[in-house]
Amino acid sequence: MRVVIDPGHGGTDPGAIGASGTLEKDVNLSLSLLLRESLRKCGIEVFLTRENDTTLSISERVVMIRTCKPDLMLSIHHNAGGDLATGSEALYRSSGIPKPGEVELAKALATGVAATLSISYRRVLAHEHGVLRSDCVAVTLESGFLSNPVEERLLKDPDTQRNLAESITRIVIAHFGLSQGQHQEMDAIAIWRDGAYVCDGILHNGTSYAPVRKFAEALGLQVDWNGAERMVVLTTKDIATILLRIDGAEITQLEDGRILLRAKAAQE
Ligand SMILES: [Zn+2]
Repeated sequence: MRVVIDPGHGGTDPGAIGASGTLEKDVNLSLSLLLRESLRKCGIEVFLTRENDTTLSISERVVMIRTCKPDLMLSIHHNAGGDLATGSEALYRSSGIPKPGEVELAKALATGVAATLSISYRRVLAHEHGVLRSDCVAVTLESGFLSNPVEERLLKDPDTQRNLAESITRIVIAHFGLSQGQHQEMDAIAIWRDGAYVCDGILHNGTSYAPVRKFAEALGLQVDWNGAERMVVLTTKDIATILLRIDGAEITQLEDGRILLRAKAAQE
């Protein structure tokens, strides 16, 4: 899956000005960078129309989006409208027929963002926002109002922005029917025993995996492979033989043939 994030405004165009002077272009960019990080962790390919404070016209953005051929374009904006205006809002195209699921995604994003920020859900609406003239599902998100002092404080806070990025990621994943687990990148980990390096493993969905042979031998176990039974046989002097069935839940076999078992299970 491929997503283009379009951080609104930039360069000579500051966008909305917050109650205490926060510039919309800056909040748009910082949220977009966090969103890129969060989506990438789920194995989603992400492009940004701008990665720094540069000026870009709408037509330049549209060309970039079309060139990328994404499945989704998310334009990140923040609203302004007087210090009493409040709430989240998402826009979908008003010209032509919305892409399948576009209105539903806009609604899911606006309501999800409102829940994450504990602010009100304002609306979704069809709008002639230039970047929505994309060939893919395209939504412009206005997370809240920078002109509202309470929302401005929230929206410029880095922790809140991180929560928001993660919330948007969860909504995108659910909308496109992706499984967060399946698409999560596997982080490399190193396994040490008593100050000595043993082997590399991976962290996947909060569980660490380690190659059986290296891991078990480091624990003083004898490791044998019973091909006929598709079984790893671990033997120790002190305790009974442990049999690890490949078809069992505790074992993962990688495409390159390595067999991994949950490190927690091996220690127990
Ligand atoms: Zn804007």
